[in-house]
Amino acid sequence: MNLINPLIDKDDKLQETAENLMNKHREDIRKKAEIMLGKTETDIARMSTEVIQKLLFEFQVHQIELELQNEELNRAHRELSISRDRYAQLFNLSPLGYLTLNIKGSILNANLAAATLLGCSKEKLINRKLGEFINPADQNIFYFFLRDLTTKQSDQTLEARIINADKLSSDIECHASVRYNEYNKPEIWLTMNDITERNKAKATIVALNAQLEEKILAQTQDLTVANTQLKCNIDELNYSKQQIREREARLNSIFNASVEGIITIDTAGTIISANAAIKSIFDYFPDELIGQSISKLMPIPEKKQFPNFKNFLQSQIPEFISQVREVEGLRKDGSVVPLDLSVAEFTMDEERYFTGVIRDVSSRKLQAKLDKDHLEALAHVTRLGLMGEMASGIAHEVNQPLAAISSYTQACVNLISAGTLDLRQLTKILEKTHNEAIRAGQIIHRMREFVKSRKIYRSKVYVNALVKDAVSLCSSDFKQSNIKVQYELAKKLPLINVDKVQIEQVILNLLRNSIEAFKDLPPSLERKLTIRTYLNDNDYVEVAVKDNGKGIAESERSKVLTPFFTTKTSGMGMGLSISRSIVEAHQGVLYFNTRQKKGSTFYFTLPPAQNAESNDDE
Ligand code: ADP
Repeated sequence: MNLINPLIDKDDKLQETAENLMNKHREDIRKKAEIMLGKTETDIARMSTEVIQKLLFEFQVHQIELELQNEELNRAHRELSISRDRYAQLFNLSPLGYLTLNIKGSILNANLAAATLLGCSKEKLINRKLGEFINPADQNIFYFFLRDLTTKQSDQTLEARIINADKLSSDIECHASVRYNEYNKPEIWLTMNDITERNKAKATIVALNAQLEEKILAQTQDLTVANTQLKCNIDELNYSKQQIREREARLNSIFNASVEGIITIDTAGTIISANAAIKSIFDYFPDELIGQSISKLMPIPEKKQFPNFKNFLQSQIPEFISQVREVEGLRKDGSVVPLDLSVAEFTMDEERYFTGVIRDVSSRKLQAKLDKDHLEALAHVTRLGLMGEMASGIAHEVNQPLAAISSYTQACVNLISAGTLDLRQLTKILEKTHNEAIRAGQIIHRMREFVKSRKIYRSKVYVNALVKDAVSLCSSDFKQSNIKVQYELAKKLPLINVDKVQIEQVILNLLRNSIEAFKDLPPSLERKLTIRTYLNDNDYVEVAVKDNGKGIAESERSKVLTPFFTTKTSGMGMGLSISRSIVEAHQGVLYFNTRQKKGSTFYFTLPPAQNAESNDDE
C-alpha cells in the first residue's frame, strides 16, 4: 500500500485497467487484420463481394469503436491529470511532511511541510542527505532505522531530534516503507510529523505526573502515618473503654457492697442514685429516695435553716468536700441519726453532681460517750486518791492561816484585856484575820472543786493559770521536801479549750510524781523542779515538768504509762495512764524523757483553742 497517499495508488490502478482494455482491443483487431492479411490476393479475389463488404463493415465498426475508445481514453487521461494535480496540491499542503529518499538516504522529493520542517526550500533539499538534519545525538538510531528499512523491507518508525537549516531544533516522528519505482528501483517513502509540541506536552505531563506521584506518595505516607496513629488511638480507646467498663463494674460492686451509704444528688438537691446501705441508715429503700429531695433525709432544724437548697449547696457543701464532717440525718421513723458525711463533686455533661458518703456513727457516738463517762469516773477516783495523798500537805497548808487567825484573835483579846485598845490597830489586825480566813477558805474551796464528782466542762483558759493553781495545792509538800520550784512560763501563749480540773489533775500528777522521785535521795542533793510552758513547733501549747530526781530505770520505761504500774508502796499506778487518756481526749500527747539517777522530764501538749487570740498571760 502507498504510505504517502492511498488515493494516488487508486488512480494508478484505474489507469492501468484502462490501458489494459485498450491494449486488448488493439490486439483483437491486430489479430483479425493479421488473419485478413494472411489471406492472399487470390483469396480476396475469390471472395464474394458480399463477404468483402461484410469485412469492410466490420473494419469500419472496429475503427469507430477504436475512435470511441480513444476518446474515452483521452477523457480518462484528462481526469487523471486533474486528479493528479489536486493530489499534488494536497500532497504539498498536507501538514505532514512527505519525503522520498533513495536507498542511501538522499532526498529525491519533498513536500512543503517537510521543507518547512527542515528549514529549506523543496528544491534545495533535493539530493541532500536526510541524515544531515538529524541531531548528532540521534545519528545512531537514524542509522539503524535506515538499515532496518532496507534490510528487513518492512515499515519502520523513528522518533528523533532534527536541527534544521536555521539551526532550530525540533522533534520529529517518521514512518517509512520501501517502494519500487517504475524503473523497479527501491525508494524510501517517508512521512515526517513535528512532535516537538507533543513531546513538550508529554514532558510536561510526565513532570506533572511525577509531581503528582510525589504528592500522592507524600500524602499516602501522611495518610499511612495518620492511619497508624488512628489505629493506635483506636487501640488506646478500646483499651480505655475496656478499663472504664472494668472500673465501672468494680465501682458498681463497691457501690452496692459498701457498708457506707452513698447518695448522689444534682444541684437542685434531687437524689439521682442511692445504694443498698442507705436502708440500714435511714430505713428507706433506694427506690423510695430516687427522684426525691435530699431534704427528706435532713432533720427539721437544717431544713428550716436552708429552705432554699441552692443556698445550702453554696454555703455548706464546700465545707464537706474532701473532709469528713459530723451531721445529723432524719430516719424514716422521724428519729435523728448521727452521721459522718464526706462529699465529692463531679461534672457530667456540664452538670454538677455531688456524691455523699454517709456513715451511721450512732454506735461510735455511744462508745465515745461511754469512754468519756468512764474516763470521767476514773479521773474522779484518781483525783480522790491524789487528794488522799496530798491531804496531810493540804491540812498543813490550811493550818497556817488557821494558826495565824488564832494568833491574831489572841492578840485582839490581849489588847482588849490590857485596855489599850486602839481602834485603828484593831482594824488592821481584823483585816489580817479576815485575809487569812479567806486564804484558808480558798484552799478548802479549791480542794473541794478538785475532788467533787462533776461533768466534763470545757472552757477557754491560759495554761499558766492552771500551772499556778496546781502548784499552789502542792506548795506545802514542796516546802516539806525542800524542793526548789522554778517557773519558765512563756508569755503570749494562746488560749486552750480544756476541762481545767482535768488538766490541773494532769499537772498535779506530774508534780506529785516528781516530789516522790526526790524521796530517797540524799538530803545534800539540791532538789530542783522546773515547770516550763511554751508553744512547740506544731504551734501546740506544751507543758514540761522536769525534776532531777531518781529517774526511771530502763526496764520500767515502757510500763510507766500503762495502768496499774507503780513502784510506790501505796501507789495505784493509775496516775500517768489517766493523765495520758485526759491529754489524748484533748487531742494532745503525753510523753517523757528520763535518765536514771539524773531525773525525768514529763511533757504534754494541747491544741490552741480555735479562733482564740493570743494574749499576754497575767
Ligand atoms: P503511781 O504514782 O500511783 O505509782 P503513776 O502512773 O503516776 O502511778 O506512776 C507510775 C510509776 O512511774 C511510778 O510508780 C514511778 O515509778 C514512775 N514515775 C512516774 N513519774 C516519775 C518521775 N518523775 N520520776 C521517777 N519515776 C517516776
